[in-house]
Amino acid sequence: MDMQNRVGSKFGGGGVMNDGHSARDRKERLRQLAMETIDLAKDPYFMRNHLGTYECKLCLTLHTNEGSYMAHTQAKKHQTNLRRRAKEDEDKQKALNVMNQAKEMQYGRQIKQARVKIGRPGYSLTKSLDATGAKCLSFAINYPEIKEGIVPRYRFMSSFEQRVEAPDKNNIFLLFAAEPYETIAFKIPNKPMDKSEGRFVTSWVDGVFNLTLFYLVESPEDGEEGAIVAPKMN
Ligand SMILES: [Zn+2]
Repeated sequence: MDMQNRVGSKFGGGGVMNDGHSARDRKERLRQLAMETIDLAKDPYFMRNHLGTYECKLCLTLHTNEGSYMAHTQAKKHQTNLRRRAKEDEDKQKALNVMNQAKEMQYGRQIKQARVKIGRPGYSLTKSLDATGAKCLSFAINYPEIKEGIVPRYRFMSSFEQRVEAPDKNNIFLLFAAEPYETIAFKIPNKPMDKSEGRFVTSWVDGVFNLTLFYLVESPEDGEEGAIVAPKMN
């Protein structure tokens, strides 16, 4: 209530207003002000309920018309709640920032750890032909400093997956990986391999990973030797 406009107030200099009148007047002024400055469509707390009246979702108050709601948005209760909500959002954001920062630090440490590599492993590659004329490749990769509990992994990568050199459908890559060593890759001929028993074998013994594979026997005209290299993959 506007105390200055009360009947009998010593400030009520120019003509006396009754209480009802001044309250209505004040409400109307607030409503006008709100109408001018507030776009209800953008007010996240303004809600028209199923009864056709309005609610403030922030203060959980009911309003019979838009004007009443708008006047409410200028009132102390709503303004106080707005400030409280803003403070809560700010606190939440701060907590979120702290969490993200902690995550970043942790993630950063992981990256750093992963980058502590001890270089390429030593390796040997033996090429041979068996009695049937099938080409054999036998890889031995030395991992004497391998992390405890880790078993070396291998996988084939098509020439189109890798980013080291221009794709060539005549070759594929055979990768060997074991932390903390660098991953190494061998370029080998992209020709049908023998999948039968004993023709594709891996073993992991005393820090040496072995992989032996046989190609299927091919006709002499396409039995050329493929280039074998060890490009740096990372
Ligand atoms: Zn409110």
